[in-house]
Amino acid sequence: MKKLPEDRIRVHDRMFRPYISQSEIDDMVGQIATRINKAYAGEELTVLVILKGGILFASDLVRKITVPVSIEFTRASSYGDGMTHSGTTRIDGLTGDISGRNVMIVEDIVDSGTTLRELVKHISGLAPKSITITALLSKPDVHKDSITIDYVGREIAPDFVVGYGMDYAGYGRQLDAIWVVCDDETT
Ligand code: 5GP
Repeated sequence: MKKLPEDRIRVHDRMFRPYISQSEIDDMVGQIATRINKAYAGEELTVLVILKGGILFASDLVRKITVPVSIEFTRASSYGDGMTHSGTTRIDGLTGDISGRNVMIVEDIVDSGTTLRELVKHISGLAPKSITITALLSKPDVHKDSITIDYVGREIAPDFVVGYGMDYAGYGRQLDAIWVVCDDETT
């Protein structure tokens, strides 16, 4: 049996190598929170967490936000069990009243931008006061939809990542750092 390099992990049936450390994530979240606190001084915010991937990012982010915050959840499913977009985005579960609110969508990672486009379209119909988008990561090289991300932690190459809320085939969300797929187990 091949011995794995110690900095590689297996998630389900694929190998991943370290990509963004826990302390880098902390810095990114802190910087985003600082900008949000400044921009929303004197206002209230409704943080709309996109499940499931946005859960860890949002839970760290809201604890650093100093303006009054309410939290809502919605579910956006598009990746099925694998690493590629299924082509359709299903949005459901948003039950709270967001009319007249400053809604901040919190997304783990933006790939094609289709999920956000669909979500913004949906939310726009619910009469919010404003809509902004916060994403921990973004892959600008593969954005298909022109989408403005107001607060982004880091722009990355179009590689598949896992951890800090993001899964591969349902696994890996609990990892406290972010890992990128690597096919060669020996490098
Ligand atoms: P989009 O609609 O922008 O193409 O895809 C956004 C959603 O796809 C994200 O919320 C996330 O669930 C998933 N996604 C996109 N890229 C990745 C990735 O590299 N890793 C994981 N785990 N999920 C991703």
